[in-house]
Amino acid sequence: MFFKTKKFERSVLLKKDFFYSILTYCQMKHPNECILILKGKSKNGQIKIDGLVIPPFNETGPTFAGFPHSFLPLDMSYIGIIHSHPSGSAEPSVTDLHNFFGLVSLIVKSPYCDDSIFAWDSNGNSIPLSIE
Ligand SMILES: [Zn+2]
Repeated sequence: MFFKTKKFERSVLLKKDFFYSILTYCQMKHPNECILILKGKSKNGQIKIDGLVIPPFNETGPTFAGFPHSFLPLDMSYIGIIHSHPSGSAEPSVTDLHNFFGLVSLIVKSPYCDDSIFAWDSNGNSIPLSIE
């Protein structure tokens, strides 16, 4: 066999500008959850986020945030979602995993500061996140 199995180290890369916009948006929506669509590219396991989109018809409350996926345009640059947890928990809920969208799910927990952001895959495993 000439094929080598290459194991890619997964990671999520988020620009500082986006990071601070996200934190501000979460603070604005508090005590309700907020939800945003992440745009970006995935290459060799590395997910680079290069845009944020407010989903159409999104509905949020203190313990949920969602939007009808059927209203989304088919856009291949949509790679995941980010939502806030005003409760202060960093872990995805069963509902979050059930409604998993794309490749990555970012969760920002209250009080939305520099170390309040976490990345998860569809199985609920954490993915290292770096802010550049
Ligand atoms: Zn959640």
